[in-house]
Amino acid sequence: MAMWNPWRGCHRHSEGCKYCYIHKGDARKGIDTNNIVKTDNFYAPIAKNKRGDYKIKSGQNVYLCFSTDFLIEEADIWRDECWEMIKERSDLHFIFLTKRIERFTECIPDDWNDGYENVTVGCTVENQSNADYRLSVFNGLPIKHKNIICQPMIEKINLELYLSEVELIVVGGESDKNARPLNYDWVLDIREQCKVSNVRFEFRQCGTYFIKDGKEYTLNTRELCSQARKANINL
Ligand code: SF4
Repeated sequence: MAMWNPWRGCHRHSEGCKYCYIHKGDARKGIDTNNIVKTDNFYAPIAKNKRGDYKIKSGQNVYLCFSTDFLIEEADIWRDECWEMIKERSDLHFIFLTKRIERFTECIPDDWNDGYENVTVGCTVENQSNADYRLSVFNGLPIKHKNIICQPMIEKINLELYLSEVELIVVGGESDKNARPLNYDWVLDIREQCKVSNVRFEFRQCGTYFIKDGKEYTLNTRELCSQARKANINL
C-alpha cells in the first residue's frame, strides 16, 4: 500500500466536510487548507531509485489524494500529468475518493473510453440528498471499479437504487468532539441493502458519538476503527 498526494489543500464542499480532519490538522499547524499547492511528491509513482527501479513496488494499491480531492478545480492544470503516470504504472492500482463526482467527465483524459482498469473511484456521500445527487451522476459514468463511501454518515441513507454497478460500500461515523452521532441501525440497514444486492460491505469506523440499541456512547478516536472491526459485520 502506498499514498500519493500530488497536491495538498481542499475547500469544504458539503455537509460531510464540516469536521474535515485535513482542515483541523492544518489549522493546528497554521496552514491555510484553502490554498491548493503541488507537493514534492507529485511524480512519486514514476520516481526511481539508483538502480533504475520504481520506488513504489509493483502490485500495490496506491491511495491517491487522501488529503485533498483529485477532482478539485485548482488541480485541472496538473491532472493530465497524473493520468499519464497512472497509465505508465498499469502495474499499480490507484484509488481515489471524491465529493465532486459531477466534475468527473471534464477531468478524464482523452483515451479514458470506458475507464482505466487500474483505477477505482469512490463516490463519497454523507446524507440522502447528496447520495441522490451524486450517485445518480456516478451510476452512469464509465468507470471500471466503483465504490460508494458513506463516511461520515450523518443520517440514514437508502442506496438501493445505486448498487448495481458498485463493488464495495464503506460505512463510517464522524470523528470530532462536535461530531454528529452515528446510529448503528443505519449501518445495519445499509448492510442489509448490500446483502440483497450482493455487494461487498465494510463497516470501517464508529463515530465519536455512537448510538446502539437507543443508547449513546462516546468513543475515543483511537478505538473508532477497532470497535467497528469488533462488530464483525463486514460482507
Ligand atoms: S472534500 Fe474531503 S478533503 Fe476536501 S474539505 Fe471535504 S472532507 Fe476535507
